[in-house]
Amino acid sequence: MSAVPKQGITVVKGACPHDCPDTCALEVQVEDGVAVKVLGSAAHAPTAGVLCTKVARYTERTYHPERLLYPLKRVGRKGEGRFERIGWDEALAGIANRLGPIAAENPEQIVPYSYAGTMGLVQGESMAQRFFHRLGASLLDRSICAAAGSAGHSLTLGSRIGVDVEIADRAKLIVFWGSNAITSSVHFWARAQAAKRAGATLVAIDPYRSLTAEKCHIHVAPLPGTDGALALGLMHVLIRDGLIDRDYVARHTLGYEALAQRAAAYDPGRVAAICAVPREQIESLARLYGTTGPALIRVNYGMQRARGGAMATRNIACLPALVGAFRDAAGGLFLSTSGNFSLDETALTRPDLLTGRRPRTVNMSTIGAALEAATPPIRALIVYNSNPVAVAPASARVARGFAREDLFTVVLEHFQTDTADYADIVLPATTQLEHLDVIKPYGHYYLVANNPAIQPLGEAKPNTEIFRGLARAMGFADPCFADTDETIARCAVRGSWDFDAVRRVGWQRIGPPIGTARFAEGGFDTPSGKVEFHSEQARAAGLDPLPDYIPPSEDTRGALAARYPLAMISPPARHFLNSTFVNVRSLRAVEGEPWLDIHPDDASARGIVDGSQVRIFNDRGSLTLRARITDRARVGVVVALSVWWKKLTPDGRNANELTSDETLTDLGNAPTFYDCLVEVETTA
Ligand code: SF4
Repeated sequence: MSAVPKQGITVVKGACPHDCPDTCALEVQVEDGVAVKVLGSAAHAPTAGVLCTKVARYTERTYHPERLLYPLKRVGRKGEGRFERIGWDEALAGIANRLGPIAAENPEQIVPYSYAGTMGLVQGESMAQRFFHRLGASLLDRSICAAAGSAGHSLTLGSRIGVDVEIADRAKLIVFWGSNAITSSVHFWARAQAAKRAGATLVAIDPYRSLTAEKCHIHVAPLPGTDGALALGLMHVLIRDGLIDRDYVARHTLGYEALAQRAAAYDPGRVAAICAVPREQIESLARLYGTTGPALIRVNYGMQRARGGAMATRNIACLPALVGAFRDAAGGLFLSTSGNFSLDETALTRPDLLTGRRPRTVNMSTIGAALEAATPPIRALIVYNSNPVAVAPASARVARGFAREDLFTVVLEHFQTDTADYADIVLPATTQLEHLDVIKPYGHYYLVANNPAIQPLGEAKPNTEIFRGLARAMGFADPCFADTDETIARCAVRGSWDFDAVRRVGWQRIGPPIGTARFAEGGFDTPSGKVEFHSEQARAAGLDPLPDYIPPSEDTRGALAARYPLAMISPPARHFLNSTFVNVRSLRAVEGEPWLDIHPDDASARGIVDGSQVRIFNDRGSLTLRARITDRARVGVVVALSVWWKKLTPDGRNANELTSDETLTDLGNAPTFYDCLVEVETTA
């Protein structure tokens, strides 16, 4: 919460860069050139001056004794983590000398690998992609997190323009579907708490009794990957019991009759068997949803990490239209608000630099397989804003790929991560306190600017400056490589906004006035302008045009369950954000060590006692964790909160040792992290 700073302290306006929907506006207190405190800005309406515990300790991360401050060259074996300091000139010239001949042979052999280590539009994919486009490098399918849900949402509702968080407290029913908001959307949770105090009912749908589920009135715990069936069961009851807003359906939806026929096949008895939840719970939840308004579904990406992840999102997105929840500004669906903003990708990333070339696309979700067998082979990898050796599925395969002696790897980083250990050259990047940026949120409607608060530490440089340097070293003279960070920020988003004003104020709201019910009269960004229960786009893509249920690729009802009967999920630990913050000692201390949550019945069937070491395994690998016996994990499901750095765990492994890259989601080419059957045994 912002406070009056003491004398001699300057306050610099900033923005949280992390992969979190909330994009908090920051106030960084600086004394004698040192950032002494990072606070939330109380005047920023959607986040109201409250930071999560992770970013409240941002100075601890920025001034961490293990910050990378100089370029490094590997002197040990790949993965061993032995490096020596070199100068920037040597680093850039060395990289250019390696990339030049590879590019001359075939630039597609060079692959960028990046994701949302920063959400900044400047330090994310601007100068970096300009560099790779000019080079003619492979393109990257950035599919690892949100691609399936986004694709499913797009088929039914079009762009993701979720309910405005600022009025979520007016809802009378809030359903958290695959969303542990206390961990991953804390400001939405604050609004839900306000709604609860005003009499709203809160429901959680999650296989795990998360912190959020624990505080909701109702918790439904389906088996992982069965959410699509649950949504169909709810539709069945709504239609059967006449709880449909017929006027809204008639005017603003497409394909209702066909949907009703499809949903008829998903009676609560069948759905209860698929999801392993009581039939009565499906009946009563549907009646509650059909009779309470405004009703808001806060769906998050947890439920789309399964083979049918896009379909499940499509199905859930049908529900608000059936009951007319979109009539109210506080009703409807909230997956993301990113569709509220129109990025100028062309100006940011300059695809014209490809000059007509059409490089292949490498899917980041299968990077291990690509490193093993892509044609042409991947000979150079440049990693920024990501830590694939820890976060990508099928981790052992990923690590094997990174360990290839013939692979040249460059990593831009703040810390010596699991991935940086495999680099040939490590380049020190600045943190958010040290560079300029502008952030497009996905949990509210405000662009937020980030001013540099302190000078870069050591010899760290912003990503933009590193790629400018690489462009110079490669001899690229195109004028766009001379663009300043300010120039890039100004062109990042289309529409009426002023970067200089945003820098000064801290943020600018984009979009309609608060309280506008954007879809009360339809106007969806789909081909028909309606909610598409029936999707011709899906049919054209060879998919089922209607909602249906796609079982998990590893199903607790299938043959594989004879050997691996437990479904493992690995949602975010509260004090980590993906793999960021794991090395911040005070935050890791709160998490303690990596645990496996297991239900008392599953534990006793295996002779597992609380606190003992257990081995979790499947055909892809194994890891050892300490068992925590708790009914937070439902029967048949084990939970490994993530994403731990492998080298900071007792056995040097994390949950991605067990996740698969063999089956991708039905749309979006995304990983099926939660289609993961395992067995657990005591090591005693
Ligand atoms: S991680 Fe999220 S909640 Fe935490 S400070 Fe950043 S935007 Fe706010």
